[in-house]
Amino acid sequence: MRNIHTCMYLAIWIAQATCDDAVDGKLSFYSSSWEGWNKNTARWSAYEAPTFSAVFKPETEGELSQGMEYLAKHNIPYLATKPGGHGNVPTLGHYQDVVQINLDNFRHAIVNSDYSITVGGGAKMEDLIPTLHKAGREMTVGSFPCVGVHGVMLGGGMGRLMGRYGLISDALLHAKVAIWNGTIVEASDKVNSDLFWGLRGAGHNLGVVIESTYKTWPDEGGLHYNADMVFTDDSLDGVVDTYREIVKDSLDPSLFLILGYMYDAEAKKPLLFMNIVYAHDEGKGRRVAARFASSPEGTANPIVRISFKESNMNFSELGSGKAVPGVCDVNLKNTLYTASTPDLFETAAMKAVYKSFGSFVCAHPGANRSILLFEAVDGKAMDALPHDYSAYAHRGMMTTNAIIQATWDEDFDGIVAEAANAWGKEARDLLARPEVSGYDKLYAYVNYANKDEPLAALYGYEEKQQRRLTGLKRKYDPHGFFNAYRPLPLDMNGWGLPLAPGAPESTRDEL
Ligand SMILES: Cc1cc2nc3c(=O)[nH]c(=O)nc-3n(C[C@H](O)[C@H](O)[C@H](O)COP(=O)(O)OP(=O)(O)OC[C@H]3O[C@@H](n4cnc5c(N)ncnc54)[C@H](O)[C@@H]3O)c2cc1C
Repeated sequence: MRNIHTCMYLAIWIAQATCDDAVDGKLSFYSSSWEGWNKNTARWSAYEAPTFSAVFKPETEGELSQGMEYLAKHNIPYLATKPGGHGNVPTLGHYQDVVQINLDNFRHAIVNSDYSITVGGGAKMEDLIPTLHKAGREMTVGSFPCVGVHGVMLGGGMGRLMGRYGLISDALLHAKVAIWNGTIVEASDKVNSDLFWGLRGAGHNLGVVIESTYKTWPDEGGLHYNADMVFTDDSLDGVVDTYREIVKDSLDPSLFLILGYMYDAEAKKPLLFMNIVYAHDEGKGRRVAARFASSPEGTANPIVRISFKESNMNFSELGSGKAVPGVCDVNLKNTLYTASTPDLFETAAMKAVYKSFGSFVCAHPGANRSILLFEAVDGKAMDALPHDYSAYAHRGMMTTNAIIQATWDEDFDGIVAEAANAWGKEARDLLARPEVSGYDKLYAYVNYANKDEPLAALYGYEEKQQRRLTGLKRKYDPHGFFNAYRPLPLDMNGWGLPLAPGAPESTRDEL
């Protein structure tokens, strides 16, 4: 029913735009016959992805506002994104045949006279990071160039230098937002401070950010130490023990650790690797890397390091994604699961997941680009801010995040997808067990989430937090136009219940 209405309204809309200039006569609006269609609608993941009936590509904020007003007035669902959007939560796939609001014309990144930086709503990390670098400034940034700054920031925003500067959203000073009906509002500590609070952690739910401004820090100089290492399988105990010791005893704000499981397609078995980045201090970075060197004979739980590559990177290269090549490729199929822990998951579970990863890929060789990452960063900069500083609910809790990512290509009968989800869920459920994670409940970062976690696991278990978020949703998105990304409920009954598989596709009200 909705699709018929949508098409009807769109047909009227196109006719108006081209014949009688009903919406200003300058709409940058495209159908699937447009030569740029495939490039503009491609997604990082084609699995449970949104699909589009039309692309609306505004050139100015006035045009964006007018287009949204029109869409809202005619109850036409829409989704703001950009070419190659990396959002992966499966609720995005509930948005079928919607209008894409394409933010690719909003990719500016400008350093202001007070050294804050203003970033357009469609900017990617590759727009932000080099601009900061040229100005001799730095801030927390994502590790990969292709990912959208706002998709990341609106969920909190983790990344390189987070140990020093906190979440990306912690640096947000101001945002300009188009709410559901195209009305443009400002959000900061002083204006619409409720919206400002919600944007930083639950922001995918509230409006389209046209641009946003962040505090930055001086680049103190010196390169960032980077080390990539690979170990034999039977080093898992030793590597896990060392990682745990570092995280428990001496994780410092300049260090970012990634322990990863990849698949070696030639050897047909998983492969254990580490990436270490130490900001601005090669000597200290080397000392951390040395802790993962091959152990002397006779050591209990020995480490055997089979490859070791060191380099020094400038700030710009920190976000170049060198540690995981090919990660920006579009149109593969991905499903993600996540769990977090205050130090590292219990060792037997780490080993069980390593084994189950090998079995999953061995049975489905087309999924050999799947990967597991355990990312650790010091939480003191985040903890220094009050618990309710922003809507981000896990301040100081996520020292290590597990990102369980199954990736595959061909899947004619859905068998790989089914196996990928079964494996990913089983691995997540094991890691999230209290005796394994150290937490009595699941805590999950919304930007790495799937669709079966309770909303409270993403946005907070406290009733006060939930009331605040539901109040914001009712105020700023009363008709649920922004329900694609793990939607906040419009009433308190919607909290705490897992979104069951096959649950209603959208909670969007009819206008
Ligand atoms: C390869 C890869 C690397 C990643 N690295 C990191 C990382 O370093 N740190 C981290 O925290 N997360 C990371 N993530 C997770 C990432 O935060 C999410 O996937 C995020 O949703 C990606 O945002 P996007 O803008 O690229 O995607 P999109 O699909 O375009 O957007 C995702 C959601 O954000 C909304 N959105 C996007 N732009 C705006 C805007 N301007 N205003 C309002 N809503 C908007 C969209 O409507 C959609 O609901 C990574 C993911 C991948 C696949």
